[in-house]
Amino acid sequence: MKNMNDSKCVRRPLVADHIQSLPKSGIRRFFDLVNTMDDVISLGVGEPDFTTPWTIRETGIFSLEKGHTSYTSNLGTPALRREICRYVEENYHVKYDPKNECIVTIGVSEALDIAMRALVNPGDEVIYTEPCFVSYPAEIRMAHGVPVVVETYAKDGFALDPEILLRKITPKSRALLLNFPCNPTGAVMSRENLEKVAEIAVEHDLIVLTDEIYSELLYEGEHVSIASLPGMRERTIFLHGFSKAFAMTGWRVGYACGPREIIDAMMKVHQYSIMCASTMAQEAALEALRNGTKSMQQMRDSYHERRDLMVNGFNRIGLECLMPKGAFYAFPSIRSTGLSSTEFAEELLKAEKVAVVPGSAFGACGEGFVRCCYAASAEDIIEAVNRMEHFLATLKR
Ligand code: PMP
Repeated sequence: MKNMNDSKCVRRPLVADHIQSLPKSGIRRFFDLVNTMDDVISLGVGEPDFTTPWTIRETGIFSLEKGHTSYTSNLGTPALRREICRYVEENYHVKYDPKNECIVTIGVSEALDIAMRALVNPGDEVIYTEPCFVSYPAEIRMAHGVPVVVETYAKDGFALDPEILLRKITPKSRALLLNFPCNPTGAVMSRENLEKVAEIAVEHDLIVLTDEIYSELLYEGEHVSIASLPGMRERTIFLHGFSKAFAMTGWRVGYACGPREIIDAMMKVHQYSIMCASTMAQEAALEALRNGTKSMQQMRDSYHERRDLMVNGFNRIGLECLMPKGAFYAFPSIRSTGLSSTEFAEELLKAEKVAVVPGSAFGACGEGFVRCCYAASAEDIIEAVNRMEHFLATLKR
């Protein structure tokens, strides 16, 4: 038998190539730095500053009290799937069968992962927009796909320009991943542009994954789901969850709805890797859909006020910022400072103890911007804007 220490024995790398080559999230690195400091005002983390509404928490507690501690069906409890399909039909105008067109997942994160793994053959191209949620290109790579970026620009309100999308399509294009309202820009798509994107998807036989996790947090206009447009239901996977609208990030519940064949395939990946979402969390999620609308609307109204406070504040101090129509992020330009977004974020943190996320963490075309989450208290927003004004003044000296 060969000795492993024999110099002739070539050791293989410990980690698979496609994982080794993944960059660590830019946000994580930055927050490791934030965590070493005291008294920081953080506009960095992308999650609600509300605790989950009480009746939802109480339902979770009751679930444990009643001893509901075993696995559920792999797809999720029938009651939750029925309620999800009702909610999706009512709010997004697409009808799904709870029996086989809906799967409950560990957040949108898992839904995205199992959708990619179910759809993508090695080498298939998946088109997505940037700036985007940090997980997207990594999710595509982990499924052995090839990420293809469509840049979005401030001049278009960071909406996807269908003309640019068309130029990115090749014979290897397999899927298109959309996220409107968008993290990190807060951008939304007009119905007209979404219709053009849908036509392109049909013409080029693309599967569309639509991550609508922020769709309840919309402050102007109407939210249109691409799944509801003609010819789209059969080629769209609708991804949604409870983290943002119902302030349930830690419960880890999301879902995917789509054509039976795709949900069946996603179910296989889910079954072998996850089994099912947490029973207690599924029962709490059911309560959120049944009785959580009023609390959700109150939280949305509160974000709306804080959006105006932050964005007006940025524009007043000279950081040009579009008024985002949805989600809870402002994405001001920091180009006037001459700093890169990483320099801006690091220097602001050191000088004024305000944490914002460099735009470059969301893709190369996020350079020149920073992401600021307005799910922070009004006092913190006012104080952060004041500190940023002071920071800008010191840069000019
Ligand atoms: N999609 C987007 C666009 C997000 O911003 C996030 C969370 N920041 C997720 C998905 C993941 O959400 P979940 O908690 O449902 O896994």
